[in-house]
Amino acid sequence: MRYVIPDYYKEFYCTADQCEDTCCAGWQIVIDRKSLRKYGQVKGRFRKRMFASVDFMQETFRQDKETRCAFLNENNLCDLYSNLGKESLCKTCRLYPRHVEEFENIREITLSVSCPEVAKMLMNRKEPVRFLTYEKEGEEEYEDFDPFLYSILADAREKMLEILQNRSISLAVRIGLIMGMAHDLQVRINHEEMFSCEEVIKRYQTEKTRKFVEEKYEYFMAYENRLEQYYYAHKIFRKLYELELLREDWDTVLMETEEILYADGAEKYRELTEQFAKWQKNEMPDMDIQLEQLMVYFLFTYFCGAVYDEKIYAKARMAMESVFLIKELFKARWVRNGYMLDLDELTELVYRYSREVEHSDENLKKIL
Ligand code: SF4
Repeated sequence: MRYVIPDYYKEFYCTADQCEDTCCAGWQIVIDRKSLRKYGQVKGRFRKRMFASVDFMQETFRQDKETRCAFLNENNLCDLYSNLGKESLCKTCRLYPRHVEEFENIREITLSVSCPEVAKMLMNRKEPVRFLTYEKEGEEEYEDFDPFLYSILADAREKMLEILQNRSISLAVRIGLIMGMAHDLQVRINHEEMFSCEEVIKRYQTEKTRKFVEEKYEYFMAYENRLEQYYYAHKIFRKLYELELLREDWDTVLMETEEILYADGAEKYRELTEQFAKWQKNEMPDMDIQLEQLMVYFLFTYFCGAVYDEKIYAKARMAMESVFLIKELFKARWVRNGYMLDLDELTELVYRYSREVEHSDENLKKIL
């Protein structure tokens, strides 16, 4: 079995009770069957607490009024862990923030940016992320797995990541190239022209295609097109209201952002966007690197999942829109703060976005 991990994987450690926003609150934790069976067999002093804290019918941990896990004590430590040890944790708690995508004999493991510590690591990182592979014993065979499509997707993703990390090109153009490649690959797959995908991947690495994308982007961003820019941004933003809400206070963030950025029309939106770009250049010149890291994260995590549903373009669009929306959240927070923003706030907005969007199967189904 081949495992793939990002090079910062081993740097992660859980800050437990020091965590600024514990993962043991705010969402329903589903318990795997094996752990559930173990919990049902617990004897002794802890049995009563176990049955009060686990909903065996729903297969979840119960929560208090503030949606904190019933095992999370007032010191933000887990009573299950303290009383029965690490091995007692269910699969979700043992794994988090690790996220595993499974492809027959390959396991791609990432660290979810919904964890504040992971978000912090990515927001502080300057050098491009690399992916490491290692082998472990074991093999699996999947029915209905298409290894040829997977290899096309993995090749495409490798080239997309190369483009994305080429910092001699503006981030907007790099993302434009990725979207173009994903779009053209989707057309080929739809027409069952798998063998011509390689040609598409090559085309998006040429100077000619880069110039074409650059011109298209410049045209779209021209002042005359401010109305289109505004409608496009607002339309993407409004999609967030269609998603399942995991935390009540997320709604407040959305409404506040919408009010700040879009309530006063296209002219004001354009003005704020320009001012923010100027501020970013002078005060936070690394923001494009941070957005690049996020785009790498979303693309790496989800793109090859298209092997199961052939929705290649949707996977790339999810990555692009996520990065766009996170930047919109940054922009609105910057305005709200009186035109200031710091790294802690970037981190907070990143992990809160990820918690809402990535930690609901219903939401992922809608956007992927
Ligand atoms: S969110 Fe991350 S750092 Fe915080 S408690 Fe959970 S795993 Fe640990």
